Amino acid sequence: MSPLDVRPLDPDVPTIDRRRAEDYLSAGLWREERIADLLRAARLRSPDRRAVVSGTTTLSHGELHRAVTVAGRRLEGLGVRAGDRVVVQLPNCTEFLVLALALIDIGAPPVLVLPGFGEYELSHVVRTARPVALAVRTGNRSALTTESTRRLRKEHASLRHVLALGAGTAGDVDLAALCDPGAPWDEQVAQAVTAPRRSDGCAVDAAVFLLSGGTTGPPKVIPRGNAGYAYMIRAATEIARVTEDSVCLAVMPAAHGFVLNCPGVLGTLAAGGTVVLGDPTDPRQAFDLIERERVTHCALVPTVAMQWLTAAAGTSADLSSLRVIQVGGARPVPELAGRIRSVLGATLQQCYGMSEGLLCYTRLTDDEAVIVQTQGRPTSPMDEVLIVDEQGRQVPNGTTGELLTRGPYTVAGYYRDPAATAKAFTPDGFYRTGDLATRTPEGDLVVNGRVRDIINRGGEKIPAEDLELLVARHPAVRASAAVGAPHELYGEVVHLYVVPETGQEPTLLELRRFLRELGLAFFKLPEQMEVVAQLPTTAIGKIDKKALRARIARRRAAEA
Ligand code: AMP
Repeated sequence: MSPLDVRPLDPDVPTIDRRRAEDYLSAGLWREERIADLLRAARLRSPDRRAVVSGTTTLSHGELHRAVTVAGRRLEGLGVRAGDRVVVQLPNCTEFLVLALALIDIGAPPVLVLPGFGEYELSHVVRTARPVALAVRTGNRSALTTESTRRLRKEHASLRHVLALGAGTAGDVDLAALCDPGAPWDEQVAQAVTAPRRSDGCAVDAAVFLLSGGTTGPPKVIPRGNAGYAYMIRAATEIARVTEDSVCLAVMPAAHGFVLNCPGVLGTLAAGGTVVLGDPTDPRQAFDLIERERVTHCALVPTVAMQWLTAAAGTSADLSSLRVIQVGGARPVPELAGRIRSVLGATLQQCYGMSEGLLCYTRLTDDEAVIVQTQGRPTSPMDEVLIVDEQGRQVPNGTTGELLTRGPYTVAGYYRDPAATAKAFTPDGFYRTGDLATRTPEGDLVVNGRVRDIINRGGEKIPAEDLELLVARHPAVRASAAVGAPHELYGEVVHLYVVPETGQEPTLLELRRFLRELGLAFFKLPEQMEVVAQLPTTAIGKIDKKALRARIARRRAAEA
């Protein structure tokens, strides 16, 4: 199949125009490859090298390949076909990795949902993606109760299987068995290993679906096309110097692009290196893993990086294997950035980007000032970045404006959401990031804030309007406004202003409980609340969030 065929198998995947596709191809950035081919080739290249460590399980690339191939055949046995979608909400574990790779392999892209998302977000994703299967952990750490899983299956005819990690209910597929690395290896499977199939799928077909952290409303589903995604990952392994000797520790959810593909889990595997999967709640557990597995690379949001810096002072763990600490998802304060090298002995790599595409990095050889003070520059010479004022005119270097971007791995739109696509993308294909940024004369970007109304809690994004709509369902609430309040650890947390119904006085605890019952993710719950008689408005009658933020700032100043 020609990679210039820019029509994906799935007509709901928006595509870039042919001319740009041809340019990326003739520049050698796009290749006629699927990310599945890249990953499979890496597994076959050095079968005896260590590929993944998770808890007490260690798999070589050869063993991982077997597990992935067997799981792929089993998924096909369940009727999962190329072009189908499977929603995956799992913690960092071997089953997550084997399942995601098997789905990528058979051309049935996984839709990766953060473990922290609740039923509210998950149901929205299922409604949009119409998956044939849903992989979730069961038990009290699951986002779904047995009852809600049953409801989802009933409401969504496409959803034929629940792949359960843990004790499932009758009819569920046992995910641990499906992904069992010790599964028997028969001839049919061996065939698939020696003769990789060119499954259906081409350059512009989705390899995976990520979820957006930006814009408004519940998360948008982002189809990441093969050619751009494969290019982005190859380029990132060079920028972060990930090789087959690298050991990458995933401490944050691997379902997030920053951990998965910057170069992260997929890039490390593609380079033939080792991925250590964990989800330590405490930096000391992470330090033990670093010492034991000789970890070289790790991606952290500023909040976790800050916890590491504090904990490193009192640790006896040997962290000398660390080479690169990537910090992204939110902007780190310069003091944090400045201490990574002196405290952790690793080079800081700042990463700024988004699930929709563009990724910027500081380079490992950049001057210290660039590494500490900027969020880096784009991955690709063909990434186009515009910084524009409110009228859409480009502003000179050094001036702040909204960052717009398009390029070889930035998507052309959202999956099955033309309204959101029309809002977030310009007619000529630029993604409006909603981020305010400045470009230095040297071409590095400094991210200064957001145009849109998003609260960034330590890298986790909370669209304010979405939260307000849910709060409005509470009978004691007449109106509300959510704004980010500065917070030492998380950067910002949700501060909720509430106008109550007459004679009512809702408490923070009550509202938090109410939102949890609606299935809202835990990290989106308000952490501070104020009851007010009315909300300030702007000249055209919109809630004046600037005034509300200023009110918080004044109060903090008075308390200091
Ligand atoms: P997500 O799609 O979840 O990766 O969120 C993307 C958004 O996170 C961006 O549009 C930014 O608002 C924010 N973001 C990511 N990295 C950084 C960074 N290094 N500095 C500031 N904001 C960031």
